[in-house]
Amino acid sequence: MKLIYEKSIKGRRGFRLPKALASKKCDLPKKYQRVKDPDLPEVSELDCVRHFTNLSRMNFSVDSNFYPLGSCTMKYNPKFTEKALKLEGFLELHPLLPQLLGGGMLAQGSLEVIYETERLLCEITGMDAFTMQPLAGAHGELTGAMLIAAYHKHKGSRRKYVIVPDSSHGTNPASAAIAGYEVIVVRSDKDGCMDIGAFKEKLNEDVAAVMLTCPNTLGIFNPRIKEIADLAHKAGALMYYDGANLNAMMGKCRPGDLGFDVVHLNLHKTFGTPHGGGGPGAGPVGVNDRLVQFLPISKVSKRDDGTLYLDYNNPKSIGYIAPFYGNFAVILKAYAYMLLLGKEGLTEVSEYAVLNANYCMKLLKDHYELSYDRTCMHECVFSASRQADKGVHAIDIAKYLIDKGFHPPTIYFPLIVKEAMMIEPTETESKETIDEFIAAMIEIAKLTESDPQVIKDAPQKAPVKRLDETKAARDLNLRFKGSP
Ligand SMILES: *Cc1c(COP(=O)(O)O)cnc(C)c1O
Repeated sequence: MKLIYEKSIKGRRGFRLPKALASKKCDLPKKYQRVKDPDLPEVSELDCVRHFTNLSRMNFSVDSNFYPLGSCTMKYNPKFTEKALKLEGFLELHPLLPQLLGGGMLAQGSLEVIYETERLLCEITGMDAFTMQPLAGAHGELTGAMLIAAYHKHKGSRRKYVIVPDSSHGTNPASAAIAGYEVIVVRSDKDGCMDIGAFKEKLNEDVAAVMLTCPNTLGIFNPRIKEIADLAHKAGALMYYDGANLNAMMGKCRPGDLGFDVVHLNLHKTFGTPHGGGGPGAGPVGVNDRLVQFLPISKVSKRDDGTLYLDYNNPKSIGYIAPFYGNFAVILKAYAYMLLLGKEGLTEVSEYAVLNANYCMKLLKDHYELSYDRTCMHECVFSASRQADKGVHAIDIAKYLIDKGFHPPTIYFPLIVKEAMMIEPTETESKETIDEFIAAMIEIAKLTESDPQVIKDAPQKAPVKRLDETKAARDLNLRFKGSP
């Protein structure tokens, strides 16, 4: 006999209005009101739990395995942030809920979360104001590039170019191009930093901005940022900081103090909110006072009486980039994360992230080619070129790691490193876990010498065996035996 908890499921099925609203009479015109219950499919609680548990086990996740996917900051997402989200007042927030209802102030708490998060981010980055609206890092970059365009237009200058080093994240040139700019790529020097000589040659009065990923995709911090910022400002260009990887910098240095005018952060990387597979995310953009007037609408503002509201009144704004509250759940979890960790905790995050990456780098550099052998920040980038000479490529190493129970590092990126393997352990991993990963990487390096075919045939233990990649691309089939 199957016990079906039908009653409890049914009881929770409908959309529950907040108490203050539920007591109001429904004034929806009669013709739009539902006369009978919707015909939704029903399953028992057990079937439902099995379905989702099985789905979750088909995936690789931070909760199940080490996930050193460079540039993605796949840190553990602490569960207390989910608890904050489940507080009733947040859980039942609706975008159209009145911000002030007869003194009920139904959305005041949520508006306060956005308001306070903005202030904390200003403190962390040294910027003057933030928009919390962008829904991802790349969306933040596009917003930033549009702000830069608005700034130059306001000054009556028409600048055509954005300078991007070849070690930047791929979204940087893409965002600049979508905002209407032509992209000038500057090569890196032997230390993995933007070549200053080449940069000076490209810099002129037609350059609108210099976009720097910092630390760059080689995991390297450019010690000459101040000099670059001074040169750019002298030429009338603005400085853009891609801060998706703030995990190496928090509490240590602030983009605003380094001379940046615009910065975007990825709350879903640095501030511990879950992400992957394209979302959900939030890419707030911070600016200094030169650009505040162009920020998107809406913005949370405070009235004299202390109440908060979504402010749409900004004539010089670049306009809408997202509706309502932005990705509120992500903002709320990031806020909870910042409050719990505090200043000391956030600083420690950066310290451990950098320590763990350098630990990996040090223990692996006898076994893999290190293109830029210097202290790294939150990630280290190796090349599988030595292994490739024996027929084992970065993709083969990645597949073998799956059999060993690890998510592979990011491979073939950054583009300037041949056979790149970008390893970002993050601060949340134990030494034991990192040691196991290092042991697996060393095992691969040794197998390359003795039995390379074993690596080329991997994975063997994963639910899906080695795919014919060409066939997979041309004849995509996402179903396999065992799909629920
Ligand atoms: C992840 C990342 C981005 C893009 O962020 P999305 O949220 O994926 O759009 C941009 N820059 C850097 C350096 C990143 O690591």
